[in-house]
Amino acid sequence: MPAAIGRRCGCERRKRPCAARDNAAPSCLGPVKTKRNYLPNIDERLEPILSEVLSRNAGEPEFHQAVREVFESIGRVVAKHPAYADDALIERICEPERQIIFRVPWVDDSGKTRVNRGFRVQYNSALGPYKGGIRFHPSVNLSIIKFLGFEQIFKNALTGLPIGGGKGGADFDPRGRSDGEIMRFCQSFMTELYCHIGDKTDVPAGDIGVGGREIGYMFGQYKRLANRFEAGVLTGKGMLYGGSRARTEATGYGNTYFVQSMLGTKGESFDGKKVVVSGSGNVAIYTMEKILSFGGRIMACSDSGGYIVDEQGIDLDLVKEIKLLRRGRISEYARLKGTGAHYIEGSGIWDVPCDVAMPSATQNELTGRDALALVKNGVIAVGEGANMPSTPEAVRVFQEAGVLFAPGKAANAGGVATSALEMQQNASRDSWTFERTEERLAEIMRNIHDTCAATADEYGAPGDYVLGANIAGFVRVAEAMKAQGVI
Ligand code: NAP
Repeated sequence: MPAAIGRRCGCERRKRPCAARDNAAPSCLGPVKTKRNYLPNIDERLEPILSEVLSRNAGEPEFHQAVREVFESIGRVVAKHPAYADDALIERICEPERQIIFRVPWVDDSGKTRVNRGFRVQYNSALGPYKGGIRFHPSVNLSIIKFLGFEQIFKNALTGLPIGGGKGGADFDPRGRSDGEIMRFCQSFMTELYCHIGDKTDVPAGDIGVGGREIGYMFGQYKRLANRFEAGVLTGKGMLYGGSRARTEATGYGNTYFVQSMLGTKGESFDGKKVVVSGSGNVAIYTMEKILSFGGRIMACSDSGGYIVDEQGIDLDLVKEIKLLRRGRISEYARLKGTGAHYIEGSGIWDVPCDVAMPSATQNELTGRDALALVKNGVIAVGEGANMPSTPEAVRVFQEAGVLFAPGKAANAGGVATSALEMQQNASRDSWTFERTEERLAEIMRNIHDTCAATADEYGAPGDYVLGANIAGFVRVAEAMKAQGVI
């Protein structure tokens, strides 16, 4: 009943009713007649644009959150250069170039046929082929893939490398699945995805639930279907078939480099600092590794079941053994480590006192309440390894308290940057040493840090890395789109 749906959400004002249903009301308020301050912190020129974006994408809270944050920053650009609001440039940036949703059928070990939903959002190719990871997690839906894809556009622009933005995934839960089940799922996923990707079109990589094993299975299936060894079609590959050294470590190492630069602006460093890192997956593990090499001490880490605290400092080798070799639960750490370590079920990791917090698990894992606890305990810096792990309230708390805050869009860009280096090596049929690749990564992270800081200064908000990242990323994408006509 489209009319009823339209009436409930206010979209009868649009020619076409939106697909909003019962839960749409808060975010689907129609595109016209926005009162001043109806959208707080949004420049008056941008209010109708944002209002339209929210109503066109009703029922997508994570996507709304990501878009709103960018709009809160780019008001200053539009105030200085009104031409950026011409030709529906901002509306075009908010609209994905292409969205693919597909069925992923597969057979489990008991012979039962299962079906999941796959996604690939090809968001923006103004700067290069779409580039962004694939996430396998039961929470995956269009809102989550669009928020990740939208953030990816600006993140990739910040790297200064020729890559556009995209993201994909499936609502498949890999936890507890056998190797055979994972392989069959990856093969089925790629059977549809392969006709949409290519080294000059769209180059996926890993994300939550997708690591080297899954990339290997997907690459193998792509090769069978395409009958081509097209190394540059996926990144995060194994070293034997076109992978890059330091890609596995890149996101965590990159975030640590970014925070090190940020601490440096205050004459500080990781040396001797207590650090809490959430998660115990790819990003968390290599964040911990680099922090340890910089002289920091890891007090706690977690998984979706709970967190461990170790007064003697987390034993990273033990975490790696549990997570990378056994694919086990973090709760096993306390039992295996014995004295000094304990496991606490559920959330609460941000109550552990620390100097630096590195949220590296998932979106909205660090709330306003958590941020207040961290500030009370004396945190001086936060580096987002995950994408959008801090809620808007948490970001506000950090910024008002003068905590150095590195948004994921900038701080975790090392992963995609090293993926672009992998593409570069594939294109030239070369393979760099670990040292050379890490050196490039460190240089890219320093540049991203300096660009964000300089842009924040230029726009009158010194030290605001959120604003700096959003504006610097936006300007690069906007300029490229303007130069390419109405695309
Ligand atoms: P991963 O290897 O799958 O690890 C994810 C970790 O987060 C696991 O320990 C997982 O625990 C935990 N986790 C997931 N959902 C959680 C929840 N609701 N509460 C608490 N913990 C939760 O994934 P990853 O590659 O490290 O990615 C982590 C974050 O970094 C994501 O936001 C991702 O988008 C972002 N990121 C990743 C890359 C990359 O190169 N991989 C690059 C840029 C950004 P369980 O095992 O219990 O689920």
